[in-house]
Amino acid sequence: MTATLVGGIGELVTNDPTLGDGSPLGLLRDTALVVERDRVAWVGPARAAPAADLQFDAGDRAVIPGFVDSHSHLVFAGDRAEEFAARMAGQPYEAGGIRTTVAATRAATDEQLTAQVARHVDEMRRQGTTTVEIKSGYGLTVVDEARALAVAHQFTEETTYLGAHVVAPEYADDPAAYVELVCGPMLEASAPYARWVDVFCERGAFDVDQARTVLQAGKAKGLIPRVHANQLGPGPGVQLASEMGAASADHCTFLDDADVTALADAGVVATLLPAVEFSTRSPYPDARRLLAAGATVALATDCNPGSGYSSSMPLCIALAVREMRMTPAEALWSATAGGAAALRRADIGRLSVGSRADFVVLDAPSYLHLAYRPGVPLVTAVWQAGRPAIG
Ligand SMILES: [Zn+2]
Repeated sequence: MTATLVGGIGELVTNDPTLGDGSPLGLLRDTALVVERDRVAWVGPARAAPAADLQFDAGDRAVIPGFVDSHSHLVFAGDRAEEFAARMAGQPYEAGGIRTTVAATRAATDEQLTAQVARHVDEMRRQGTTTVEIKSGYGLTVVDEARALAVAHQFTEETTYLGAHVVAPEYADDPAAYVELVCGPMLEASAPYARWVDVFCERGAFDVDQARTVLQAGKAKGLIPRVHANQLGPGPGVQLASEMGAASADHCTFLDDADVTALADAGVVATLLPAVEFSTRSPYPDARRLLAAGATVALATDCNPGSGYSSSMPLCIALAVREMRMTPAEALWSATAGGAAALRRADIGRLSVGSRADFVVLDAPSYLHLAYRPGVPLVTAVWQAGRPAIG
C-alpha cells in the first residue's frame, strides 16, 4: 500500500480535542500526517514521522480539514443578477423570485445542468470545499425534481430532496394538491437519488402542517429530515425540526428563547448561512446566543442564484467572525466539523487517524488568516480522499 507523508505542516487543525492544545480545534504545530488510500493513517510531530513512499511538503504553512458545505442549491440554470442589483437598489427580498430559476431549470438539458453543477463544485473545491450537500428544488415537477437529484448524485452522496421549496406555479391555486404530489409521485421518483428530505417552512412557502406532512412522507421513504427554518421571520420551522428529529435547522435568523432551547436540547444543528444575509442585506443570525445555549453551529454557503450566489466558505468564515461575533476558531470549527455534524458524518471535518484525508493547505502560517485576510485566495492545495485535487 502506498503511503504519503505530508510534512512541513506549520500548524495543523485536527478538530480532535484529544490532540494538541486541548481546544476544540485540536491544534498541533510542526506536524506531519501520513495518508494511506483515502484515509489519514498517522498524525504526530514532524520529527517522529515514519518513512513513507511519497512526500508532500506543506512548506511550513497551515493545514486545515477540507470545508464541509452542508447547504447548497447547485442544480439550476440561469442567474438573477438583475434581481440582485434591484435589491441592492432598495427592493426587498421575497421568496417568489425562485420561479424565474424554475422556468430556466426546466428548460435546460441534462447536459447543461450537469455542466453547471460540475462548474460550481470545481469552484467550491478551489476554495477548499471537499464535501458539498446539494438540494433539488428548482424543478417542481416529478420529472424535473428526480433529474435534478440524479444530476447532483453524480457529484455527492449528500443529496437532498427539496420538492417543497415553493409551491409549483401550476399549483398556485391548490397548494394542498401540490403537497400531495410532493409526498407521492415526486417523492417516489426522487428518493432513489436522495439521502435527505428538506422543506422551506416559511410564510409564502409551506406552513407547519404542510411541512410536517412532507417530512413525515420523506422519513417513511428512509430520508432524513432537515428544514429551512426561521429565515424571513419568526415561525414554527425550528420547533418542527426538533419535533421531527431533523439533522439540521438551516438559517435560524429569527429565533425566540424556546427555539434556541429546542435546538440545543434536541441536538439539531443550527446551520447559519451568512452569505445570504450579506446578499439580501438582512440582519445576521445571533450565533453567540446559540453557542451560549450549547447548540451545535454549522456554517454553509446556501449557494443559489437568488438569495446568495457565493460558493465561498472562506467568505462565510469572515462574515461569521466580523458580523456574527464568532471567534475565528469557532467559525473554522463550524465550517468543517460543524458541517460534518449537520450531515451526520464522523469521517469528515476532522484530521485524525481514520478520518478521510480531505485537507486544505493555506498560504498562511495560521488558520486565523481566513478571517484576518478576507477576500484573499489563501487556498494553495486541496487533497480529497487521499489525492491531490488542487495544487
Ligand atoms: Zn437554502
